[in-house]
Amino acid sequence: MAVPKKKSSKSRRNMRRAHHALKAPSYVECSNCGEMKRPHHVCGACGYYDGREVRATAAETA
Ligand SMILES: [Zn+2]
Repeated sequence: MAVPKKKSSKSRRNMRRAHHALKAPSYVECSNCGEMKRPHHVCGACGYYDGREVRATAAETA
C-alpha cells in the first residue's frame, strides 16, 4: 500500500535499504579445464557442463 513520503523517517527508509547491497558474483573452477566459471553455468572456455561437452567451442567449429 502506498504511504505518504513524509511518513517514513530517514532512519526507517535506510533500514529498509540495508538489504539492497549487491553481492559479487561467485565463481568456481571448471572441473574440465580449470578455468573460472559461474556455478550451474556452462563453462565459457571449454563448453563443458556436468562432465560432458554441451556447446561447441570456437576452435572446433572453425
Ligand atoms: Zn572449462
